[in-house]
Amino acid sequence: MRGRRDSKMISAIWDNLKGLYSLLVGMWVTGRYFFQPTKTVHYPRQTVDPEDLAAYRGPLELTRGKDDESKTRCISCQMCAKGCPGNCITIVKGKEGKSPSTWLYDYTLCCLCGACVEVCPTAAIDFSHRLYLVSVTREELVLDLLADLQKRVAAGPLKPKALPEAAADKPAAAPRAQDAGGPEPAAGKGEG
Ligand code: SF4
Ligand code: SF4
Repeated sequence: MRGRRDSKMISAIWDNLKGLYSLLVGMWVTGRYFFQPTKTVHYPRQTVDPEDLAAYRGPLELTRGKDDESKTRCISCQMCAKGCPGNCITIVKGKEGKSPSTWLYDYTLCCLCGACVEVCPTAAIDFSHRLYLVSVTREELVLDLLADLQKRVAAGPLKPKALPEAAADKPAAAPRAQDAGGPEPAAGKGEG
């Protein structure tokens, strides 16, 4: 009888010690992160530094042309549209040359997998760094990327990459700078 009671007590002590150990490990992990710099921001009081957006995958955008920035590099090969698992891309080839006359992108269907960016033979598309695209209708998120390209080019040239001399005064620009403005909804509605 006494032996059984002792065994129960030992088991209870052992359980308590395990619980204490688990608590200490949890507190150690919490304490370690407590003193590290925060990685989140209090939006909208704070916004994300463009420097931190290098790897961020925002909605697709067309890259600027090499000789003429307002011309897309797209040659209407349809490889991106064929490989897209979400069927997000609609491209119609123009009447002259290989350039498309229509380049629509349904952001509501896009899983940001990157297959289209990888397969494009001319590097005509890339992920933007746009964080704040919102909408109240699905239609507004079907984006006309040709119109968006014109809008971005009209807003000004691409910002330079890192500027070492200026780095001490202000943060360097992101590796692929955020263009002004943003994709036009195909329906012609504005961005939220
Ligand atoms: S990122 Fe993926 S899902 Fe989105 S458009 Fe490209 S291929 Fe389609
Ligand atoms: S893969 Fe590139 S070049 Fe071909 S249609 Fe898509 S964006 Fe245009």
